[in-house]
Amino acid sequence: MKIFAEGVGITEERIPSVCPYCAVGCGFYLVVEKGRATSMEYMPEHPTGEGGLCPKGNAVLEVLNHEERLRYPLRRSGDEWIRISWEEALELVAKGLGKAVEDHGGRSLGFLASSRCNNEENYALQKMARLLGSSNVDNCARLCHSPTVMGLGGSLGTGAMTNNIRDLANARCILAIGTNLAEAHPVVSRWVHKAKDNGAKIIVVDPRITHTSWMADLHLRLKPGTDIDLLKGMMKVMIDEGSIDEKFIAERTKGFEDLKKSLEGFTIEKAAELTGVPAEEIIEAARIYSRSEASALLYSMGITQHICGTDNVRTCADLALISGQIGRPGAGIWPMRGQNNVQGACDMGAMAEFYPGYKRVSDSSSLDFFKTAWRAPSLPDGPGMTSTEMMDAALEGQIRAMYIIGEDPVICDPNTSKTRAALESLDFLVVQEIFLTATAKLADVVLPAAAWAEKDGSYTSMERRVQWIDKAVPAPEEAKEGLLIICEIAKRLGLDLNYTSASEVLEEINRLVPAYKGATRSRISKPGGVAWPCPAEDHPGTEILHLERFSTPDGRANLAVVDNVPPAEETCPEYPILLTTGRIVVHYNGGSMTRRSPSLMERDPELYVEVNPEDASSLNIIDGSMVVVSTLRGEVRARARLTNAVKPGMVFMPFHYYGANLITSDARDPVSKIPEYKAAACNIVPAE
Ligand code: SF4
Repeated sequence: MKIFAEGVGITEERIPSVCPYCAVGCGFYLVVEKGRATSMEYMPEHPTGEGGLCPKGNAVLEVLNHEERLRYPLRRSGDEWIRISWEEALELVAKGLGKAVEDHGGRSLGFLASSRCNNEENYALQKMARLLGSSNVDNCARLCHSPTVMGLGGSLGTGAMTNNIRDLANARCILAIGTNLAEAHPVVSRWVHKAKDNGAKIIVVDPRITHTSWMADLHLRLKPGTDIDLLKGMMKVMIDEGSIDEKFIAERTKGFEDLKKSLEGFTIEKAAELTGVPAEEIIEAARIYSRSEASALLYSMGITQHICGTDNVRTCADLALISGQIGRPGAGIWPMRGQNNVQGACDMGAMAEFYPGYKRVSDSSSLDFFKTAWRAPSLPDGPGMTSTEMMDAALEGQIRAMYIIGEDPVICDPNTSKTRAALESLDFLVVQEIFLTATAKLADVVLPAAAWAEKDGSYTSMERRVQWIDKAVPAPEEAKEGLLIICEIAKRLGLDLNYTSASEVLEEINRLVPAYKGATRSRISKPGGVAWPCPAEDHPGTEILHLERFSTPDGRANLAVVDNVPPAEETCPEYPILLTTGRIVVHYNGGSMTRRSPSLMERDPELYVEVNPEDASSLNIIDGSMVVVSTLRGEVRARARLTNAVKPGMVFMPFHYYGANLITSDARDPVSKIPEYKAAACNIVPAE
């Protein structure tokens, strides 16, 4: 949909778009003059943003029109970059990937799809990987919400947000655990404020004082890594006081007796001791949450980024299920996902465990289905390697070549030195990007890609909202749409992947992914698009899941019995402080975009570490001075910020700057394989 506005001598186009940063998926209009996006206008009719944008959204043009955008294909020659033609670049890539297949088989290839790219690109990339015989395809959900896919999938049958963001206004209690949504998802916090204005009680569970905890009626400052103990304490209170929903449990769940039995020996005193939260606060939280008319549970990476991330998610689901706080307006579970299309990348099968539509790779019927649909004589069976496993495998020589689009593992993966060594050990690395990122700098070939406003395609927000955007402006110089690049490489590798447009790919998605069947281009082009599952063209989409039944085979939710697992790294005399990481409002993910945005950099230009004044005093650290933070994996310099926002014994670093992940832990949850970014034992000393 393009809207033209004519002024004196100027013709402007107002083109609807969706924010390329976080997964809230706010809409706005790009104003385009003479092929260049010159300004933005708000989109008050968008159902989620209602015209609102956060600082990142407001600054998108600084990145789109940035002078450092990649404009030409590049080939590495020693430490030099040589500009080459597209023909040469595509031939080099086909040769590099083809040689790995020829010499070591399809499974020697690794593919990183992108939560920043659209559904059609992700669909095409995972299809290319599998047609080449590799199931090693993954996206950065592995680093943020793979426990949601696994955990909520296991409990409810669908690993996604149960209600939409607007519906938060209907909640009478909001329990935000492990999420600093006021900074990470600012537009969501507007809906939390609306709920509060309507009388909702806000409970925040976070070791730190944050912008989110400022809105709380009750702030539980638990010890990091004790979420399960806290949730078990709340469930124990609810069971003992009879504030569980017995009818809901009987009619819609399985496994309650086992869960109840597992809590028999667990006391509120024990929960208080383990979590460091006073018993009366746990009791109060349990009462408010279970007794409110409608309670919303919101969580994010404070829950998922642990070695027990999947169990953390399942315990959140247990809490909602036994109190019947799910499956109605205002009641449900809101996983606050990170990147603009992280939901879509998972839906499209850009995950090691799933084909499109969450058909399990280990299920032979999935293979048969896609063999027929894709006219593929064979497809790899069994799960592939996850993104972090691919790095291990590269170091071991099992992965020989990688194709990475729109991801920056050198900045975003934990234990940077290991990631860097893994990528350097490859025989061939191709990176498709909009900037020369830290990862792209390690590539043999760099392919310049179009950014979100320079291509057609659909994106799926954290609330399952599938939204189409039209190309608004041309890509700079020779940069190309990602889908066309993938297809050109595939053609040179002899694959049947000949799409000429994103619409054509979407039509295939509509045919093969049942939840997207009715998410056709015309329907998802209107502001706000359509929320999946949308199983037919005349289906309105699904704003709230699980109203009548859960999406498990028998329609009942599965309650899980879980025990807490402490963080993989305990503090010790050498590393006496616990390091945790998280987001801040002006930056996004690895910062490859926001760190190029002058207005955002002005607000938060460098890596810092929050230190409690008590610790600072004993460590001789002065506010604003440089310090060295070290862990078993290395060390990094950062500027100290003395604040009571962190408790004594812990420090916090935002992860958007190079260096934070030099020291984070790569210990992994055995189920979802997410790394434990949220807990590492560290030491901190003044820098010399
Ligand atoms: Fe963009 Fe997220 Fe900010 Fe909305 S809340 S403007 S989607 S970064």
